[in-house]
Amino acid sequence: MGRIRSRLLEWYDAHLQDFPWRTARDPYAALVAAVAAQQTQMSRVLPTYERWMTAFPTLRAAAEADRAAVLRAWGRAGYPRRAVALHETARRCVAQHDGRLPADLDALLALPGVGPFTAAIVLCFGYGIDAPAVDTNIVRVIGRVVFGDLQPAAETPRGAIDAAAARLLRPGTAARWNPALMDYGARVCTPRPKCGECVVASLCAARPRFAAGAVAEPVRAQGRFDGSDRQWRGRLLRVLREADGPLRLGALLKAADVPAEEKPRVRALLGTLCADGLAWSDGGWCGLGSEAQAPAPRRPAR
Ligand code: SF4
Repeated sequence: MGRIRSRLLEWYDAHLQDFPWRTARDPYAALVAAVAAQQTQMSRVLPTYERWMTAFPTLRAAAEADRAAVLRAWGRAGYPRRAVALHETARRCVAQHDGRLPADLDALLALPGVGPFTAAIVLCFGYGIDAPAVDTNIVRVIGRVVFGDLQPAAETPRGAIDAAAARLLRPGTAARWNPALMDYGARVCTPRPKCGECVVASLCAARPRFAAGAVAEPVRAQGRFDGSDRQWRGRLLRVLREADGPLRLGALLKAADVPAEEKPRVRALLGTLCADGLAWSDGGWCGLGSEAQAPAPRRPAR
């Protein structure tokens, strides 16, 4: 374990990526980055992070924003329920934690949208507290190096990965060790690993299997996007985000290019956006954000 640790930390120091949330020692910045990183490639995290931090430089600013402003700042980053959770977390921290993120694992896990990975990132980058973060990249690296599995997300029990992540973490190094593993999984021990340039190849339990020609099968193919509910929801949100104000329902469907046969389905999807706190719909009008913050305008009397 010691040699794995030292080689990966050496690699990290030589390939440092200067992401602001890693050095700011700001729990809020760490939270925003961790939420933006969920289900997202690292290359797409920075623009979302910068847009959000420009709009809401503090937790309190995020808490005081209205939902529509939050969703506009999130923009096209995808999975916008993450923005809603971030917003709710900011409000909860102001209401219950004196405007600060708690420096305690259980209290963090009680916040909306905060799971073990996000909590660990807040603790290690924000507070300098040792907590092993485990994301998909880290699952892959640990599952291969320690357990010899080719596709650890499918093959290695998660409990075993978590236990190994805790064993590998040396006290006082979480703010370097967690990003070292994340970056290694993103750049070297990728789904199709670059074993030829790997600094821990001689220590890796999976290396002989890859060297013998074994291939890591994809965990699952991404579902079809074209025509999916996700695509329609994204399209509706884009129109609502770019509108100057409330829209008539018919105008929304027209701007989103919804064909006649898809209208019932897309209307139902607008209902799911409303249920998720992303949009409101009232009396034939609709808009971005929650209903309470963006009430439907009264129709002019004739
Ligand atoms: S030897 Fe290959 S499988 Fe093992 S850690 Fe390095 S890149 Fe990953």
